[in-house]
Amino acid sequence: MAHFPSGEHDLDSVLAANRAWAARVSAEDPDFFHTLAGGQHPKILWIGCSDSRVPPSEICGLHPGELFVHRNIANVCPHSDTNLLAVVQYAVQELKVEHIVVAGHYGCGGVNAAMDPHQHNGAIDDWLMHVRDVYHAHRKRLEAVPAGEPRANLLVEVNVVKSAFNLAHTPIVQKAWARGQKVAIHGWVYRLEDGIIKDLGLLIDGAHKIDAEYRMCAARGE
Ligand SMILES: [Zn+2]
Repeated sequence: MAHFPSGEHDLDSVLAANRAWAARVSAEDPDFFHTLAGGQHPKILWIGCSDSRVPPSEICGLHPGELFVHRNIANVCPHSDTNLLAVVQYAVQELKVEHIVVAGHYGCGGVNAAMDPHQHNGAIDDWLMHVRDVYHAHRKRLEAVPAGEPRANLLVEVNVVKSAFNLAHTPIVQKAWARGQKVAIHGWVYRLEDGIIKDLGLLIDGAHKIDAEYRMCAARGE
């Protein structure tokens, strides 16, 4: 793995590390790249934060081809984000992933910024308005815990849950359930301090798990 001294970005060493990695993988499994080039069959869609400290495949011990990934600041899932929706549609309809994992992480800079009333970061602030909305909707519960890390940690968890339900409310996921496809949505949070993922115990695996007003006619069987 390439490690940069602070402030130095030696891309030549990154490319050299890539060649060394490819050679090592080929030596261990001569068919590895040939097999992968033939197609992907991941069972999991990972929707996580763009934070460089949370590399999905690496922290899950998975190999290339095992995780379909979408990342943005603070793992937000807005209903109107065509980038996100295209990823979810491809993952569910074409790849037929069985699990969608929304993965937040404690110490998330995006979530912290969304709690700061004095941020003026243009596009970042616009994007984090989604997280501010989550804070506002759960203000009573959030402000019942101490300000600072405990409250930020709770907002990270609530934000993951909100993203997970937003996904469950999409026609993409509900149509999959209506045709009998198995797709389960989960909520996880990664701890930067020890590298451990906490499962929030959230499991949304059918239209019966979401509020009636969000259920599509097809999902209700009408
Ligand atoms: Zn983050």
